[in-house]
Amino acid sequence: MKLFFLGTSAGTITAERNVSALVLDLIKERNSLWLFDCGEATQHQMLKAKLSIARLEKIFITHLHGDHLFGLPGVLTTRSLMQNMSPLTLYGPKGIKQFVETVVNISHSWLTYPLDIVEIDQPTELINDEQFVVNCDALNHRVACFGYRIVEKERSPKLNIEKLNADGIPNGSHLAALKLGQLVQLTDGRMINGSEYWGEIKRGRKLAILGDTMPCDAAVKLAHDVNVLVHEATQKSDLQEKANNRGHSTTHQAAEIALKSGAKKLIITHISPRYSLANNLAIVNECRQIFANTEIASDFYQVEI
Ligand SMILES: [Zn+2]
Ligand SMILES: [Zn+2]
Repeated sequence: MKLFFLGTSAGTITAERNVSALVLDLIKERNSLWLFDCGEATQHQMLKAKLSIARLEKIFITHLHGDHLFGLPGVLTTRSLMQNMSPLTLYGPKGIKQFVETVVNISHSWLTYPLDIVEIDQPTELINDEQFVVNCDALNHRVACFGYRIVEKERSPKLNIEKLNADGIPNGSHLAALKLGQLVQLTDGRMINGSEYWGEIKRGRKLAILGDTMPCDAAVKLAHDVNVLVHEATQKSDLQEKANNRGHSTTHQAAEIALKSGAKKLIITHISPRYSLANNLAIVNECRQIFANTEIASDFYQVEI
């Protein structure tokens, strides 16, 4: 599981940063990519990052401001030019269905794959499958804006090879059943219980990916105990009034949310165009005064979770 930042600028592009988009790379887990927000030129960024839009399974839009949305028509319609595209589900606030349908109709485009559009108007559980639970909650921005909490279910454990060898259990097709914790009879007559040969059970990973927001309780709730919290930090701490007047957070405020929520790591993004990459260290250090394990994302920054 990997996070891949494709756009990290707030509001508008700069020479150094594109607008918001972030891929959760689940190729290892389910051979698919989940995209969070889709600012202009996101498909270019995916191409450069060697992330195939064919592998997109789900797109989550936090809110309908252009810097989080205007790349969507390109991604959706380019996908239609490819052969045998898999179905795609798009989640976003009310209005996203009308946006997509209008763009597709007016531009005489069409989609060659099933697109399911799920409009969100309240906190809800969006996904609960054999691997993941995804919830959303309403943040505090100038327009309806949602944050997403992604919780991986407990991962099936691997077999403890050393213990298998020590007990003289041979290789063979029965290993698959043992891995599932089933009872297996060996050719020598022994009955063995797979769960006794499990290695360490890995707890599922948790992350919170939030849209634009001022500090709010929903952010703390979404980020409770997560491995990684992705939070905006549009302005440095000296511009708090400016940030909050526009529905945004500062470095200090993002760090305080991370601290309150018990997150293990904070990654800040959605950085105002007033700051160049040369300011990164000064910006992230403001967070680290409050929450030490903070990183600042720039375009193409990736992190394994
Ligand atoms: Zn924004
Ligand atoms: Zn916004």
